[in-house]
Amino acid sequence: MRHSTRRHFIELIGSAGAVSSMAAWPIVAGGGQSAGRVVIIGGGFGGATCAKYLRRIAPAITVTLVERESSFVTCPFSNAVLGGLYDIDFITHHYDALRDAHGVEVIQDRASTIDPAAKTVALSAGSTLTYDKLVVSPGIDFQWGAIDGYDEAASEQMPHAWKAGPQTLQLRKQLEAMPNGGVVIIAAPRNPFRCPPGPYERASMIAHYLKQAKPRSKILIYDAKDTFSKRPLFEQGWKALYPGMIEWIPESEGGAIEAVDVRSMTVHPTFGDPQTGDVINMIPPQKAGAIAQVAGLAGDGGWCAVDQRTFESAVHKDIYVIGDAAVANPMPKSGFAASSQGKVCATSIAASLSGLEMPEPSYSNTCYSLVGPDYGISVAAVYRAGAEGIVSVEGAGGISPKDADTAFRSAEASYAVGWYQSITADIWG
Ligand SMILES: Cc1cc2nc3c(=O)[nH]c(=O)nc-3n(C[C@H](O)[C@H](O)[C@H](O)COP(=O)(O)OP(=O)(O)OC[C@H]3O[C@@H](n4cnc5c(N)ncnc54)[C@H](O)[C@@H]3O)c2cc1C
Repeated sequence: MRHSTRRHFIELIGSAGAVSSMAAWPIVAGGGQSAGRVVIIGGGFGGATCAKYLRRIAPAITVTLVERESSFVTCPFSNAVLGGLYDIDFITHHYDALRDAHGVEVIQDRASTIDPAAKTVALSAGSTLTYDKLVVSPGIDFQWGAIDGYDEAASEQMPHAWKAGPQTLQLRKQLEAMPNGGVVIIAAPRNPFRCPPGPYERASMIAHYLKQAKPRSKILIYDAKDTFSKRPLFEQGWKALYPGMIEWIPESEGGAIEAVDVRSMTVHPTFGDPQTGDVINMIPPQKAGAIAQVAGLAGDGGWCAVDQRTFESAVHKDIYVIGDAAVANPMPKSGFAASSQGKVCATSIAASLSGLEMPEPSYSNTCYSLVGPDYGISVAAVYRAGAEGIVSVEGAGGISPKDADTAFRSAEASYAVGWYQSITADIWG
C-alpha cells in the first residue's frame, strides 16, 4: 500500500538537502500490506545501516537481514583494542535494536548462493528467501595464496586481524607474549583495500602499547605501496610520540612481501633480505566477500561494479552491492562510507519500489585515526554522484593541519571517540 506521492517524496528529499542524510522521514507509510520484500546480506556497516534506514523511510517494506554471526565486532577501534585502550566488548554490537525497535527480521545464517533469475537467496541451514530487491554488503575476503605461504591456516600464526574478532584477540595475545626488544612486522597491501589509514593507525596503537610495556621493541611496516593515507601526519605523530620505534619500508625499498615462512616467522620481500619477526601482522590483498564472487557480481579485480547513483549492480538487476565490496572510488573502503552508501541505497530501493524517481544522491566520509590516546588526526570528504560516477565535491572536507598544537590533536582524539559512539548508535542502536 502506497500513501506517499511523487511530490511528497521529492519535497522530503528537498527539505533534507542530501539523500544520505534525509533517510529519517517515512516516504512509504505502513498500511498493513507489504510494499515489497528486501533481503540484505551482511549486518555490518553497510548492510545494517541499509536495513534500519529502509524501515525508517518505508515502514511498509519487509526487510530481512541475513548475518552469519550473532553479533558484530567493528574494525573501527579494533586498533585501539590492540593498543590496550579498550576491550573487545567496547567494539561489539548486537542486533536486538534492529529486530525489536526497527522491525527488521534478522536471520543468523550464511547466505550460500543467489539465484538472480528466480530472485532467491539460499541459506546454509537449508531455507530459501525470495526478494524483490537484494542488497549485498558482505565486506571483504582475502586473496589467500597471493602471498606465497600465506593461507587461512597461516593466519593463525601470522594474524591479519583485518576482520575484527578472534583475530584481534590473537594479535593482542601475541603482542603481550613477545619479548621486550622484539620485532613486530606489519605488512600492508597494495590499493585498493579496506581502510587505507588502518595499517598506520595500527602501527601507532601497537607502538603506544610497546612504549609502556616493551620499550626496546621495534615495529617494521613493510608496504606494497610508496605512500599512504595521511602519511605526513602519521610520520609527524610517530616522531613526536614514538621516536625511533616505527620504521616504514616502501615498495621501492623492498617493502612488498611476496612470501612468508610461518615456521621460521620470516617474511620475504620481492627484493632485499628476508626479515624475521616476533609478531607478524600480515594484511593480505583483498576482494569482495565470497558471496559476491559466488553470485558473479564481482569483476576481474575481485570488486563489484555498480551504478554509483543507486548502487544497483552493473551485472544483475534488482541486486545492490554496497560497502567495501563495491567499486565506489574515490570513496575509500571505510565504515563511514559503507554506512553512507547504505542510506543512499535504502532511498534508492524505497523510491524504486514506490515507482518514484531517485533523487540526486550525496555521500560523505570522515576517517579518524588515533596516533596516540590523546593524539587524533582525520580526513573528511563529501561526494556527489552524477552521470560520470562518484566525484569529490571541491572545497568540502579536508585534512587535519600539519602544524596543529597538542590541544588540537587531543580534541581530534576525543572527536574520534564521539564519532565511533554516534555511528555505532546510528547503525545498531
Ligand atoms: C583495522 C581497521 C580499522 C578500521 N577503522 C575504520 C575507521 O576508523 N573508520 C571507518 O569508517 N572505517 C574503518 N575501517 C573500515 C571498516 O571496517 C569497513 O570499511 C566496513 O566494515 C565495511 O562495511 P561493509 O558493510 O562493507 O562490511 P562489514 O562491516 O565487514 O560487514 C560485512 C558483514 O557481512 C557478513 N557476511 C559476509 N558474508 C556473508 C554471508 N554469505 N552470509 C551472511 N553474512 C555474511 C559478515 O559476517 C559481516 O558482518 C577499519 C578497518 C580495519 C580493518
